[in-house]
Amino acid sequence: MRRLTWLAAELVATTAETATARTLRFRVPGWPGHVAGQHVDVRLTADDGYSAQRSYSLAAPAEGDLVELTVENVLDGEVSPYLTEVIEVGDQVEIRGPVGGWFVWRPASTAPVLLVGGGSGIVPLMAMIRTRRQAGSRVPFRLLYSLRDPARRYYAGELRRPDPGLDIAYLYTRAVPEGASRAAGRIMLDDLAEGGWPATFEPDCYVCGPTGFVEAAADLLLALGHAPERIRTERFGPTGG
Ligand SMILES: Cc1cc2nc3c(=O)[nH]c(=O)nc-3n(C[C@H](O)[C@H](O)[C@H](O)COP(=O)(O)OP(=O)(O)OC[C@H]3O[C@@H](n4cnc5c(N)ncnc54)[C@H](O)[C@@H]3O)c2cc1C
Repeated sequence: MRRLTWLAAELVATTAETATARTLRFRVPGWPGHVAGQHVDVRLTADDGYSAQRSYSLAAPAEGDLVELTVENVLDGEVSPYLTEVIEVGDQVEIRGPVGGWFVWRPASTAPVLLVGGGSGIVPLMAMIRTRRQAGSRVPFRLLYSLRDPARRYYAGELRRPDPGLDIAYLYTRAVPEGASRAAGRIMLDDLAEGGWPATFEPDCYVCGPTGFVEAAADLLLALGHAPERIRTERFGPTGG
């Protein structure tokens, strides 16, 4: 197995996704490439040598040595406020990866895909959507994206553009846009029954988000008859060390 080493990463561009989330594009000389769904470790080191590291999903297919992350500002967090508010183009961090071999989607795969994302859990799912589009794959994708309210949507412009074979349903937990047919609330069996695939289609299911969200959504998929080995999960719990 390849040993992962820390690589220098220079911030080359940023985009505000929402009032609290930012996409960061880094140039990482020596980047080995990655598969949609994988993540990296990001390490920050202060002048006095103190360092902190956290995991972040890769948001897009690699473009040579450029990689993209999207980070949500966790209130009182140690690392995410720095990445969303402080770091500037030209600044350096260290990145190690790619990490993960199970929560991945490859364009050679032919099974229908169900993506279920909660909050920033959309990030690795977006990498899968972008990889599918880039590869010209015709595999049918469905995305159920649970989030507090419409202002929290990541990649809003891109997800509004037509992408044949990709169906999207937004599940708002706190506030819905005017005219929405679904009331605000957490993900339920009906959401997955209506917006997902029947278990008989044997879709590959990818569930990502905060731990409680992932556990609830995975339990609902099991209740709908999806086979456990077809449900892949990624929990965005606290990381570090
Ligand atoms: C595999 C993996 C991939 C991840 N990918 C992403 C990603 O693409 N985008 C992204 O924004 N985050 C992602 N995360 C979460 C990320 O690693 C950090 O946990 C998050 O940025 C908070 O770090 P922090 O240093 O700001 O907060 P910390 O200083 O670690 O924590 C501050 C406080 O916030 C709580 N907290 C920590 N993490 C979270 C969280 N995720 N949600 C809610 N409360 C939290 C802590 O319990 C603590 O009370 C991922 C996590 C994992 C395990």
